[in-house]
Amino acid sequence: MSKAIYPGSFDPITFGHLDIIRRLSPIFDEVVVVLANSRRKNYTFNLDERFELVGECLRTEPSMRNLKNVSIARCESLIADFAQEIDAKVIVRGLRAVSDFEYEMAMAEMNRNVNSEVETLIMFTRPEYGFVASSMVKEVASLGGDLSGLVPESVLKVLGQRLRGGEK
Ligand code: ADP
Repeated sequence: MSKAIYPGSFDPITFGHLDIIRRLSPIFDEVVVVLANSRRKNYTFNLDERFELVGECLRTEPSMRNLKNVSIARCESLIADFAQEIDAKVIVRGLRAVSDFEYEMAMAEMNRNVNSEVETLIMFTRPEYGFVASSMVKEVASLGGDLSGLVPESVLKVLGQRLRGGEK
């Protein structure tokens, strides 16, 4: 059985992430979206909130509803070790632009160093999501900009509450 993990912060999840998940689903028997929680990172949404949001998007977004082989997990340890623990041979990462490349290559090498049994595969973003990053989404949300088409409705709502004090 082929199993892949798609790890990330998902702080918060965007349509760019969801598009990668949707495209991974027919390729692998099982896809596990893994929410990383690093002590070195300052998240806007805590692990439980990010987990809830990803779950809600997978349940309610029309393009995601029929994906029976996608699940969610939390990981507070090394991703490459976690992959092996759950018997996943593949780590998938998304690539938006050349600017992502060096970071992703270094991460893939580091993960191989941690655990050579697990391979990293890169999936390119679709051009319409090439500029969508969680950090930028939060910046635009905090200034009240339009994010429709970039993040699901449930994410829009919590972004408004968290970053604009209840305003949308
Ligand atoms: P991390 O903090 O691990 O980079 P992110 O949630 O920012 O976590 O991203 C998780 C993965 O999804 C990364 O491989 C990232 O490059 C990819 N990704 C982020 N945004 C997009 C997007 N718009 N399209 C495709 N891939 C994306």
